[in-house]
Amino acid sequence: MSNVRPVHAAQHGFAIRGECLCAGNIEITRLAQRVGRTPFYAYDRQQISDRVALLHHHLPRDIQLHYAVKANPMPAVVQHLAGLVDGFDVASGGELKVALDTTMSPQRMSFAGPGKTDVELSSAIAAGCTINMESEREMERIAALGDRLGIRPTTAIRVNPEFELKGSGMRMGGGAKQFGVDAERVPAMLARLRQLDIDFEGFHIFSGSQSLRADALREAQEQTLLLGAQLAQDAAVPVRTLNIGGGFGVPYFPGEQPLDLAAVGEGLHALMPLAREHLPQTQLVIELGRYLVAEAGLYVCRVIDRKISRGQVFLVTDGGLHHHLAASGNFGQVIRKNYPVAIGNRMQDGERERVSIVGPLCTPLDLLADQMELAKAMPGDLVVIFQSGAYGLTASPTAFLSHPAPVEVLV
Ligand SMILES: *Cc1c(COP(=O)(O)O)cnc(C)c1O
Repeated sequence: MSNVRPVHAAQHGFAIRGECLCAGNIEITRLAQRVGRTPFYAYDRQQISDRVALLHHHLPRDIQLHYAVKANPMPAVVQHLAGLVDGFDVASGGELKVALDTTMSPQRMSFAGPGKTDVELSSAIAAGCTINMESEREMERIAALGDRLGIRPTTAIRVNPEFELKGSGMRMGGGAKQFGVDAERVPAMLARLRQLDIDFEGFHIFSGSQSLRADALREAQEQTLLLGAQLAQDAAVPVRTLNIGGGFGVPYFPGEQPLDLAAVGEGLHALMPLAREHLPQTQLVIELGRYLVAEAGLYVCRVIDRKISRGQVFLVTDGGLHHHLAASGNFGQVIRKNYPVAIGNRMQDGERERVSIVGPLCTPLDLLADQMELAKAMPGDLVVIFQSGAYGLTASPTAFLSHPAPVEVLV
């Protein structure tokens, strides 16, 4: 294997053979032939397994690891993870169906999300998974649906904490939020819960996402544990499960450093005595989405045209924002930055040039790389976007401009 050129900011875990990047140990050109068309997403099975193994190495053994399916709900990926993690967290009836089609036991699944419909709640109750209740009204609906079905629902309370994960890419806790029940209202909710025919499993406290700072994660984890312990005092039964959220981030942009997982692990080890003291009967759970899958995924599209406009080179590809909104900078980003990109069949030293990579859509938003220095590419070459295993295809407006959907493969 030849030397690996550092691609942009992120260190990628994909092998290079000759001129070609490999996914699942298959040259990208060969994989494109196998798939039969571009664009496609390729997810590397081994890299997902390696990531979970790394977490098992660093995290305390008595913390369970869940996968948040919304990061990548491709059925083959979810099935692969079913053999690696302790549980799944789903956020819709559709994700629940994907999860139930795997070998994971429904007892190891939880269902969060505001605005669950009666149909979604009923199938979750019938499946026997834990429903993370997001409001007092939802609790009453769950009790009524359980009565009607003749099944005692298993529930947890999703708590909206007063704090939030610092340096978080997306804020999902703290202040006024549509997620969960405000912490100060939980005691009253627990009192009402006692009168209902509902099983109480524990609490779900998610304070943020996409953090690259071990110290910020540790602070949030400690606050979460303390809040869980405090709320547990009002529960009629011992808290069986405390889901302390996740928020482990991945580097996407120049200058971002990968999360120091060893430091996160040390922080969690240091918190375990606190957990054992205040929550001796409680199983702790961490839920991770992108951290398990983002770096294992590539988006691959083909150069259709190379054109020059007033001195600037544009590579026009068959892929774009309709498949990969996040890489175009339009999925919640405040300032557009380039994802790591390479010409997947020209990975060796050779002529390089500054180019912009655009998709086929008739909108200037369809920009996959803005003035990046890459290997000089021609029509037929393969553009590869790294860090694409999470919030890719299913977070994109595939119907926009009526192009066919991309293929997904797990290799
Ligand atoms: C989206 C979500 C996750 C996953 O977030 P990542 O940043 O992908 O790890 C976890 N838990 C909840 C409640 C979520 O809504």
